[in-house]
Amino acid sequence: MPVVTRIAPSPTGDPHVGTAYVGLFNYALARKAGGRFVLRLEDTDRQRYQAEAEDRILAMLDWLGLRPDEGPELGGPHGPYRQSERLAIYRAHAEILIEEGQAYRAFETPEELEAMRREQRRLGKDPGYDGRGRALSAEEQARRAAAGEPHVVRLRTPDAGETGFVDLLRGEVRIPNAEIRDTVLLKSDGYPTYHLAVVVDDHLMGVTHVMRAEEWVTSTPIHVLLYQAFGWALPTFVHLPLLRNPDANKTKISKRKMDTSVESYRQQGILPEALLNFLGTMGWSMPDGREVFSLDDMVAAFDPARISLGGPVFDLKRLRHLNARYLRDVLSLEALAERLRPWLEARDLTVDDEDYLLDALDVVRPRAETLSELVDQLSPFLQPRLRYDDDARRRLAAAQGYLEDLERAFAALEWFDDDDVDELLRDYVQRQAVPMGKVMMPLRVALTGTTQAPGVVDLVVIMGKERTLERIGQALQVISEGLPDDDPERLKAEAEAAAKEAQRAKRGRRPVGATDRG
Ligand code: GLU
Repeated sequence: MPVVTRIAPSPTGDPHVGTAYVGLFNYALARKAGGRFVLRLEDTDRQRYQAEAEDRILAMLDWLGLRPDEGPELGGPHGPYRQSERLAIYRAHAEILIEEGQAYRAFETPEELEAMRREQRRLGKDPGYDGRGRALSAEEQARRAAAGEPHVVRLRTPDAGETGFVDLLRGEVRIPNAEIRDTVLLKSDGYPTYHLAVVVDDHLMGVTHVMRAEEWVTSTPIHVLLYQAFGWALPTFVHLPLLRNPDANKTKISKRKMDTSVESYRQQGILPEALLNFLGTMGWSMPDGREVFSLDDMVAAFDPARISLGGPVFDLKRLRHLNARYLRDVLSLEALAERLRPWLEARDLTVDDEDYLLDALDVVRPRAETLSELVDQLSPFLQPRLRYDDDARRRLAAAQGYLEDLERAFAALEWFDDDDVDELLRDYVQRQAVPMGKVMMPLRVALTGTTQAPGVVDLVVIMGKERTLERIGQALQVISEGLPDDDPERLKAEAEAAAKEAQRAKRGRRPVGATDRG
């Protein structure tokens, strides 16, 4: 039998890293076995449903490269792949169980159920459905349903004994049947519950391995009862460990404590392959212990039996480190430049010299952990006109003479390679008999606009003669203009304040703080 795995996310919000995690493992299992990976959207919770969440799930899988073989967009032999489009299938299956006496229609009103629970609490009993609807004859059920009376469909579950299943990682898991209590299969609005829909779909879609988050372990015995009621063979169940916060209690990751949105990691400039690699280390490792591995490596080595249950920690620092390794060591410079393209565009940074970009990238990439940081680092190389921050302006103010000298010296220098530039700068500093930083820092500022930039020699060599002279020239020009602060944000704020002031004066009102005494 071909291996079929699936993910069944609910389109209810920003796609969660947990969905990416479960998706990765299901993808790896299916690919490794040469099987199929199915995407099914569990959109029956109409209150929490968000149409745009559907697109986001598809976009996330696409970004990560976890492409399903069957799904709502692609179709497939067992569609539709949206549960809301399968309502007739669930109803038909509930009918089968009703006909066989394995399920029944229950007509209790919400008020009646609430009164039942109150009474149970009063008597100190566990609250739960007490099976009162079982007594109604099949004819009576049919009659009331035909008369349009609202009702649910419940599975007739055993009162005594236990139901269990074998989890590939946990071994045998059993729960007392007394905890199950005639689970609802169809709600009064005709929508299936998760339990009915998941079992019917997994069966009809030929799913052989149900691999999902740990939180579903306790639902699985209910599913087992349903498989038995239908007379269907059980799939293999694998419950993945929960991802945990790196706090002392190692609580389950949640939006409150941790950024759980995949989209947000994408926006921060985490690479999809780094995120996958990171998720691949959550409870799993390569047999050879390698920390950096690709999706294909993982697929080739994947064995779900090697998943360990020891609460993997979603540690952001580790994710950023791993991402940095991809930026620095895994991607070629050319590939990295390609990834940066949209980021540069978004910042209006144009590249007209591809080699220059690659050289600059080579120098700055060890200094960044994300694409976004990388663009920050690259920006001074690519900006046509620099802006100098306060610290930078102070440095320039003190260095006019040095910059004039260096402008002349660089103009006379023939070869802009490491050795020659290094020698020129060393000689100059020695002749001036000043500490190195007194010259290097203003030069760095002149070249990049900031004090936080890579080594000056690297900068000069990468920028080459023309750019180096142009930037020193710009800095000298600004020094000669008295170093005006041209920060557009500040200028805008000032202009706005001035306009407001003028308006006030026009209306004859006095600005706050003005007094009558002149
Ligand atoms: N809709 C469920 C979820 O979003 C799927 C659970 C399952 O995989 O069975 O987690």
